[in-house]
Amino acid sequence: EKPRIVDDEEGGVLFYTASASSSSGYGFASLEKQRQRLPVYKYRTAILYLVETHATTIVVGETGSGKTTQIPQYLKEAGWAEGGRLIACTQPRRLAVQAVASRVAEEMGVKLGEEVGYTIRFEDVTNNDLTRVKFLTDGVLLREMMDDPLLSKYSVIMVDEAHERSLSTDILLGLLKKIQRRRPELRLIISSATIEAKAMAAFFSTRRHRGPDDIPKKEPAILSVEGRGFNVQIFYVEAPVPDYLRAVVLTVLSIHDKEPMGDILVFLTGQDDIDAAVQLLTEEAQSSRNQGLIVLPLYSGLPRADQDLIFSPTPRGKRKVVMSTNIAETSLTLEGVVYVIDSGFSKQRFYNPITDIENLIVAPVSKASARQRTGRAGRIRPGKCYRLYTEEYFIKEMPADGIPEIQRSNLVSCVIQLKALGIDNILGFDWPASPSPEALIRALEVLYSLGVLDDDAKLTSPAGFQVAEIPLDPMISKMILASIEFGCSEEVITIAAVLSIQSVWFPGRGAQKEMDEAKLRFAAAEGDHVTFLNVYKGFLESGKSSNWCHKNFVNYHAMRKVAEIRLQLRRIAQRLGIVLKSCEGDMQAVRKAITAGFFANACRLEPFSHNGLYKTIRSSQEVYIHPSSVLFRVNPKWVVFHSIVSTDRQYMRNVISIDPTWLTEAAPHFYQRQLLNPNPSQV
Ligand code: ADP
Ligand code: MG
Repeated sequence: EKPRIVDDEEGGVLFYTASASSSSGYGFASLEKQRQRLPVYKYRTAILYLVETHATTIVVGETGSGKTTQIPQYLKEAGWAEGGRLIACTQPRRLAVQAVASRVAEEMGVKLGEEVGYTIRFEDVTNNDLTRVKFLTDGVLLREMMDDPLLSKYSVIMVDEAHERSLSTDILLGLLKKIQRRRPELRLIISSATIEAKAMAAFFSTRRHRGPDDIPKKEPAILSVEGRGFNVQIFYVEAPVPDYLRAVVLTVLSIHDKEPMGDILVFLTGQDDIDAAVQLLTEEAQSSRNQGLIVLPLYSGLPRADQDLIFSPTPRGKRKVVMSTNIAETSLTLEGVVYVIDSGFSKQRFYNPITDIENLIVAPVSKASARQRTGRAGRIRPGKCYRLYTEEYFIKEMPADGIPEIQRSNLVSCVIQLKALGIDNILGFDWPASPSPEALIRALEVLYSLGVLDDDAKLTSPAGFQVAEIPLDPMISKMILASIEFGCSEEVITIAAVLSIQSVWFPGRGAQKEMDEAKLRFAAAEGDHVTFLNVYKGFLESGKSSNWCHKNFVNYHAMRKVAEIRLQLRRIAQRLGIVLKSCEGDMQAVRKAITAGFFANACRLEPFSHNGLYKTIRSSQEVYIHPSSVLFRVNPKWVVFHSIVSTDRQYMRNVISIDPTWLTEAAPHFYQRQLLNPNPSQV
């Protein structure tokens, strides 16, 4: 079979070939949402029995089989939430936490935030007296350990989506294993779509350890939930596609033209390309022959109302097209999807301890991910998956599995959290996957220079404990603490709030020129951080008006979020006994505070550089100012940046100009090359 997909007007044609082995047993027969129809229901008794008799139960089951929404309910029904105890279910993604919690509340017929609640960073929708089933990010559960190291209020903790191997999941698994030895009554459920169940079981096997004998069954139980699947036919492009957004649009239009009804799920990499694809397709869809397409984006940070659209049933005669990040790969199941288009890419973090640069880059997904994506097409009937890469590429070049995030992340946050929990021997910590010693040492170095760790690699008091207490990246937390000294904490917490969201600008509305002009109205010569202050000020002066945001290409939802986060940061500051103060326009103070947190990200413009080439002070990496920055083309001599994104080059996002003397003031050890050389025995 060689379906001709579509002619595009430039005369190019996108060809797909069906793969030789096109059947893959994914999906489920039943359309019904009723709980009893979900594959996991048949295992209800088995799951409850295993949880009763085993300290750890590993549940493997395909996406959509009901693990996340059903198992916490079974536990509740079986009495695990009685006597004031709680059932926890963790997710790596915030949006999944919200979506799943609201679904479970709906199924249980209760109001979200009462018996069923959720907590994500800066958003707590639980009730101390009422909540029995709590969904939360793994990061939030880690934070809860700072107040309650044994997580004593939970009777069962379900660590969901374990196959994703997110950084926080892995840290959490390591810590839960320790807690288990102190709390034999605690039950763990590790659930996952794919897994190396055996590797996980080996990790939790207590046989390797001397421990008290009253722990229930020491070997973890493994339960595999079978789902009856529909075939998904896989198509590959015949030749690599030069422009995958265009290929997505062509493929969607062709499906809409030639294939029977059924929704389309498209896997792209992030908000920027999703917004671009949504726009391209919406324009196309307005042409007469493509009526009936409902085009929706899906990524974290999407406002609640838009999330609900994703889950609401497609109106008759219409076809939904959801453009998603890999959140729809296993975290969320969309009913009604029959066609999947897989770009083959996702946005991934990569950290290089040698250069000490953490990059967010668009990188190929693994075969395991590609299979998961394909499986999303076969949920209600046989489906089709269009892969925007060649079969040869899939077979020969795609890596079999992804790398755990802990092995490709900057570990500064991870180390400070473990230190705050009293884990002194970090190199010797029992990790599900070991991070590289180089990355750990780099993290220790930075934390030492931030004044968070002392010579013995212990948290300093009070600075270290305060930084650990603030639920933000340690560099941002340090910036906040420093702002007290510089008398600009009101301003700096606004900046901290903005750095915690995706972007203050409203992207993808076409009108690039108008948008650039709007930006210029707020642009500050000092750089992006000060520009954010101007935007926030304008937002407040407008009375938080959505109309004002619209006119100025500012993202209204993002600004509301900023105001909310700011409020939370104020509360945290109060708890830490910090009195907030405004510097009344003294932007030098603000820049100094930023430098105190981000000195490690300092760069100098290359002398005689005509194209804006900078080098990092620390490792001479070549970097450029991102075109979205107000300092793009301005190119001040010295800057610090907040983060790096890589495309054709390494670009600095959120950049501020500084005076180099502030660097040595902020971090004398760091910049006089007398770097801490931690003695491994103390680490
Ligand atoms: P798993 O965790 O095994 O992937 P889930 O428990 O997430 O499975 O999903 C079980 C069922 O619940 C699926 O049919 C899914 O479509 C449905 N579901 C889950 N969340 C929502 C939601 N927010 N809205 C509507 N349906 C949902
Ligand atoms: Mg799930």
